[in-house]
Amino acid sequence: MGRAQWSVMISVDEARNLILESVQPLASQNIAVTDCLYRIPSSSIAAQIDLPGFDNSAMDGFAVRAADLEKADRNNRIELACVATVEAGSETRRAVDTGECIRIFTGAPLPHGADAVVMQEDTENSEDSGQVLFAEPIKPWENIRFRGEDIRSGSSIASTGHRIGIGVRAVLYGAGVSELEVVQKPKVAVLATGNELREPGEVPLAPGQIYETNRSTLAAFIEKSGCEAVVFPLVPDTLEATQEAFRRAFKECDAVITSGGVSVGQMDFVKTAFDRIGGELSFWRVAMRPGKQFGFGRFQSKYWFGLPGNPVSSVVTFLLLVRPALDRLSGLSDLVMERRKGTLGEDLSNPGNRTHFFRVIFKADNSMVFSAGAQGSHRLLSLSQSNGLLEVPPDTIFKAGQECEVLMWD
Ligand code: AMP
Ligand code: MG
Repeated sequence: MGRAQWSVMISVDEARNLILESVQPLASQNIAVTDCLYRIPSSSIAAQIDLPGFDNSAMDGFAVRAADLEKADRNNRIELACVATVEAGSETRRAVDTGECIRIFTGAPLPHGADAVVMQEDTENSEDSGQVLFAEPIKPWENIRFRGEDIRSGSSIASTGHRIGIGVRAVLYGAGVSELEVVQKPKVAVLATGNELREPGEVPLAPGQIYETNRSTLAAFIEKSGCEAVVFPLVPDTLEATQEAFRRAFKECDAVITSGGVSVGQMDFVKTAFDRIGGELSFWRVAMRPGKQFGFGRFQSKYWFGLPGNPVSSVVTFLLLVRPALDRLSGLSDLVMERRKGTLGEDLSNPGNRTHFFRVIFKADNSMVFSAGAQGSHRLLSLSQSNGLLEVPPDTIFKAGQECEVLMWD
């Protein structure tokens, strides 16, 4: 890992690349299939059995030999003797002989001798006499679901790097998988620094104090990324308290996210504390707005993401720089943020020298894109009203009517 370039701002892409080069997926663990929803396999998973597991009926009706009904039509109804019944979950040893049929229900195994199922609605059944009338011919293998036609035993049904969704889990259950190897779920510590911070709900605030908002927000994003968030108590602005908080967090978690205290103020102890505990800083400061004061480093086999304290900056840096890292740590192979093409509804101007990520509203009904309001990095309201970010390069004006691409965050 390259040593810190203390005074130079690196670009967002460089920052993301440095982070992703550094972060490796966690080790794997064995889990029961019942716990696999939204986990990420660390190796390809094979079906243990064929699906369907046996040839079976797709209909409620009668298992027949198609050759017996070759000449059946409305004027020449053919009568077969119904010699047995087979329901789903059972089987019959009785085979279908020429001139015979077997009453069968959907999902029941096809009896020997039969090569087609006639649906009940196409027959006339005189149950009492045990005779069934057929007025149409049927093609061999009609209304039969074949063993292994959906999934073959041994074929891959879940692949490395892709989250197991509800559908894939159903396949794992159906194909007889009972245990599987997945990447361990990252435990991510969330710390907030600042003497001014108070727990939300604590009343009243003393002069200069504010309610803390970053930990709950970051924890929600972390959990949404499929990781476990561990929220730590507020950290006062002292070097000792910050070091102690780091030590506890790294002991328990695979990655530590801090908010606040990473700029150049007298009370900004986070970088120094990270250094003191033996952390290795990779870079600090990124040419983005909001979010310039962002740091990243390694502590042994673990990672530190130092986010700025301003609530909007912490969210934007999390989405662009931390979330892909958590995805990689979790074992995901696709780290791309969802993008949607739209048309700008107003001018957006970035006269600065850092890439500006505007909080925008992408309207799904007409793909128009508007600013979500005042863009200050302390402006929680515009963040709350936006569903996407629009990247405007330095010294650039995007004009109303222009095509653009929105990074969807919600
Ligand atoms: P800092 O990055 O520590 O210099 O903080 C920048 C600004 O964000 C200051 O106005 C802080 O009061 C505010 N801030 C820092 N941390 C939080 C937090 N966890 N919740 C809400 N505001 C915060
Ligand atoms: Mg602070």
